[in-house]
Amino acid sequence: MKRPRNPTPPFPLQPEPTGLIFERSRAGRAGTAVPRPLVARPATDVLPAAALRAEPPRLPEVPESEVMRHYVELSLKNHHVDRALYPLGSCTMKYNPKVNEDMARLPGFGLLHPMSPDGEIQGALRLMHTLGKWLTEIAGMDAITLEPAAGAQGEMTGIFLIHAYHVSRGEERRKVVIIPDSAHGTNPATAALAGLTVRSLKSDARGQMDLAALMAALGPDTAAVMLTNPNTLGRFETDVVEIARLVHEAGALLYMDGANMNALIGVARPGDFGVDVMHYNLHKTFSTPHGGGGPGSGPVAVKRPLEPFLPVPIIVREGERYRRVWDRPKSIGKMHGFLGNFGMHVRAYTYISMLGREGLRATAEAAVLNANYLAARIEARYPLPYGRGMHECVASGTPFKQSGVRTSDIAKRLLDYGFHAPTIYFPLIVPEALMIEPTETATKDELDRFADALLEIAEEAEQNPELVTAAPHTTPVRRLDEAAAARNPNLRYAFDD
Ligand SMILES: *Cc1c(COP(=O)(O)O)cnc(C)c1O
Repeated sequence: MKRPRNPTPPFPLQPEPTGLIFERSRAGRAGTAVPRPLVARPATDVLPAAALRAEPPRLPEVPESEVMRHYVELSLKNHHVDRALYPLGSCTMKYNPKVNEDMARLPGFGLLHPMSPDGEIQGALRLMHTLGKWLTEIAGMDAITLEPAAGAQGEMTGIFLIHAYHVSRGEERRKVVIIPDSAHGTNPATAALAGLTVRSLKSDARGQMDLAALMAALGPDTAAVMLTNPNTLGRFETDVVEIARLVHEAGALLYMDGANMNALIGVARPGDFGVDVMHYNLHKTFSTPHGGGGPGSGPVAVKRPLEPFLPVPIIVREGERYRRVWDRPKSIGKMHGFLGNFGMHVRAYTYISMLGREGLRATAEAAVLNANYLAARIEARYPLPYGRGMHECVASGTPFKQSGVRTSDIAKRLLDYGFHAPTIYFPLIVPEALMIEPTETATKDELDRFADALLEIAEEAEQNPELVTAAPHTTPVRRLDEAAAARNPNLRYAFDD
């Protein structure tokens, strides 16, 4: 088989075949010294005999240097933003400045006890209050909660707020949530989980909300319309002002999924174009890390009429003091323990402070420019069914189907070139979708390398399709049975003896 012409990732994927850490273990080697307990009590004093293990655990015995190398090697077998481009559309995998991490680890933040009284955490409350004010201002809204732990939980909070609002007006019958078919799967899942009914709306030929279909769907049972803007095709909903007018005329509220706010910050404000409730994803727009299950943060900003329903506690400022307020009779209650994922708040606060107004705007502009530059470089080979957009571009791999190459093959082949694959097969309304979001932190050189790789793969797909369909060739593991890998993962080390 022909070797890939450019199979060399930034550095080799597998430095040295050193084996698993269990294979490096030698009896008696140690990288740490565990202090002896001051009071030695037999374990059976504390635990029932049935809970005690018969033999000590077979932990690898290695010096600190080997432990370090073990983790460094593992990190190189993975792909991550600190290694190379991670253009996962809809996920905004931008580089996370390390100063954010330093700030979140300051002992005054990192070691706070979540049950400390207000008087002892004035700095933390002030930081949250200020971050809330900034996020409210950036969104053009009136009030905010930082409590939700992710975008999806922010949606849930937002839908609860909307429901509480309708109930407070004697309009409990409003149970339908209208959602376009380009939406992220969490939108319909949220509405259904909240006990409301989802009505899906087909997007129009522009890949935007179809106004005629919206008008036909709106009615006295409509609770809300959930709109993502820019939407998951990367398109700005240019009719949003008209959409807001129609929604309000029908007595419903407009929810905006703000996961794509990285295209808008400092440029346009959802509150100004008619949005009533929106969530942010701090772990996308404001560079806090994500992946591997979190932690995330999904603040929800609202217009004044929804403020009484916000989760408790809210943080208020009284002169130079900050205080948590629980006595909020109309509140929907608590959405997350304590004050949410506070470490994420510190990171987002740091990011916004570092950039300032002009800097934030510049990130949005660069994110949009980068996506459009990439789109322009690849569109001759990878058509864009809905055209170019904002911060991401959704291309289609259909031209390669005739040589037996699917989008999933192209994604796997990209790994050989040292890139993480983009999001694929989403949004569902684009056949063989490749959803690419380079983010503003990609340099032009990196965008060019990525575009070159895609163009090279397009060439390979025509000249030598087996090279692509058998990819990846350079990763520690090749093609997996993906269903079996998810359902029957083989994660236990089997000892020989
Ligand atoms: C990421 C994303 C969500 C969900 O956010 P999580 O933080 O992953 O729960 C919702 N909508 C859109 C458009 C997204 O990109």
